[in-house]
Amino acid sequence: MNKETTEDILKRVFKISSFRPLQAEVIEHVLAHKSGLVIMPTGAGKSLTYQLPAEMFDGVTLVISPLKALMKDQVDKLRQLGLRAQYINSDVDKSDREKRQRQLAEGQFRIFYCTPERFQKAEFIEAISKQKISLLVVDEAHCISQWGHDFRPDYAKVGEFRKRLNSPPVLALTATATPEVKREICQKLEIADDQIFALPIFRPNLAIEVDDIYGAEEKIKRLGEALESTKGSKIVYFSLIKTLHNFSAALQKMKIKHVIYHGELPVRQKSDSQNRFLSGECETILATPAFGLGIDKSDVRAIFHAELPGSIEAYFQEIGRGGRDGLSATCRLFYDQEDLAIQMEFIDWSNPELLYVKKVGQLIIDNQARYRQEGADFLREIMSFHNKRDYRVETAVNLLAGWGLLDDKESLAQLDDLFGAGVRDTRKKRQQEKLLKMVNFINTKQCRQVFIYKYFNENESEIKSCGVCDNCRALGLTPEPTAASNAATSARKSARS
Ligand code: ADP
Ligand code: MG
Repeated sequence: MNKETTEDILKRVFKISSFRPLQAEVIEHVLAHKSGLVIMPTGAGKSLTYQLPAEMFDGVTLVISPLKALMKDQVDKLRQLGLRAQYINSDVDKSDREKRQRQLAEGQFRIFYCTPERFQKAEFIEAISKQKISLLVVDEAHCISQWGHDFRPDYAKVGEFRKRLNSPPVLALTATATPEVKREICQKLEIADDQIFALPIFRPNLAIEVDDIYGAEEKIKRLGEALESTKGSKIVYFSLIKTLHNFSAALQKMKIKHVIYHGELPVRQKSDSQNRFLSGECETILATPAFGLGIDKSDVRAIFHAELPGSIEAYFQEIGRGGRDGLSATCRLFYDQEDLAIQMEFIDWSNPELLYVKKVGQLIIDNQARYRQEGADFLREIMSFHNKRDYRVETAVNLLAGWGLLDDKESLAQLDDLFGAGVRDTRKKRQQEKLLKMVNFINTKQCRQVFIYKYFNENESEIKSCGVCDNCRALGLTPEPTAASNAATSARKSARS
C-alpha cells in the first residue's frame, strides 16, 4: 500500500484543499526531525506546520503557548477533526488536571498544549517524561526575548525545558521578529540561520496613513468620523486605559456603538466584549494592545491608533490584525505631538524601581481575594500618589502578571534577577530608542511599508512602493509588484478558495 502523503493528510484530516506558501516546506523540514523558526503574519497558518506532523509522528508533540485563553478553542477544533489533542493550564481544575496528566503519561494524546509554568510542577514533568516527545513547539516565540514587548520570564527557560525533555527538535513560531528578537530565539533554542522560514512581511492590502492632529477634541472628532465612514469591523487601539475610557464616553455621546477591552476589566466583561466583536454583533472595539494576540478574525476592515504605539513592532503587530482575508483594510494613526511627551513620560513612569515593584507584588500576594475582586485600584490608594501620569502601579502589575510572578512569595523572589538596576536602565534606554523609531516612521516621506520592511529586515528593501499609503499617494506612486507581494497575493487567493 502506498504511504499517505502530506497532501492526503491535509485533505483527509484537516479538510483543507491546498497548502499556503511555506507551509509545505516547513512541514517537510519538521518531518525530517529538524528544528526551525517560522516567521509568518498572524492568520497565515503557522499552527498547521506542527499539527500535521503531529498526526504523523509516533510520539507526542508538545506545544508551549502563553495564550491560556486560546488553548481550549484550539484543542476543541482539533478534537472535532478527530485528532487526539488535550491541554493543561491553571484554568483547568485539579481533578481534571490529574486525569489529563495520567492520560498524557499513558500515551493517549498526539498533541498536548501547556503554558510554560507547567514545567515548574514536578508531577507534570513526571507525566511528560513517560512519553517520547517527537517535537517541542514554542508558539509566540518572541516572548523569549527579554527586550521584546511581550517578554515572559517563563519563556526565557524554554531552552532548559528542552534539555529536560532530552532535546527533541524544536519548532518556534512567531508573527513578529526584529533581527534582534530573531537572534535571541535562535540562540536560546539552538536554531541555525538556515533553519529560519520567513514570509515577507509586506502587506500590500493595508493602507497606512498618519493624520496630524491638534488637541484631544479634534482627535475624538476625527476618530468619530472615521468610525462612522468605515464599514465593517474596526479596532481602535489605545496605550492608556484612562484615554480609552475618555474616548469611550465621548463616543457614547456621539451615539457610536462600541465595546471596550483592557487588562483591568473583569474576565467576564473581557470575554463578553471579545465575543460581541468576533461575532460581528458589535463592529467597533476600543482596546489596549492586550487585545488581539492570537485572535483569529479575518475581516477587520480598519485599525485606528488613537495613541502612539511605543514601537514599530508593536504597531506592526497591531495593524497586522487588519485585512487578513486579503481584502483591503485602512490603518490610520492619529498623531498629536502631545502624545510623544506622554509616551516619553510614560517610559519614565513605567520603569519603577525594583523595591516599588516588589512592594506591589507583595501587596497583591497578601490580598489575593481583594485583588481578584477589585483589580488594581486599591493598590493605587495604598501606594498613594497623585500625579495623573503616574503609571507605576499599572506597570508593576503588568510586569508581575506578565512575568507570572503573582502566584506566591517564592516566585516573587525571582524579581531580583529579572528587574535589577542594570536591567531597568537598559530596558528604559531600549524603549526610548524604539519610540524614536516610531517618530521617524511618523515623519518619513517614504513609502510606509518600505519603512517597516527595512526596520525588520536590516537591509535594502526589494519593494519600492506599496502605492496605497498616504506617502505613496501624495507622490502619485503605484504599487511596485515584487516577488514578495505576488507570493502574498496567491497565498490569500488560496485562503479564500
Ligand atoms: P497563525 O498561528 O499563523 O496566526 P493559524 O494557524 O491559527 O494562524 O491559522 C489561521 C487560520 O487559517 C485557521 O483558521 C486555519 O484553519 C486556516 N488555515 C491554515 N492553513 C490553511 C490552508 N492551507 N488553507 C486554508 N486555511 C488554512
Ligand atoms: Mg498562532
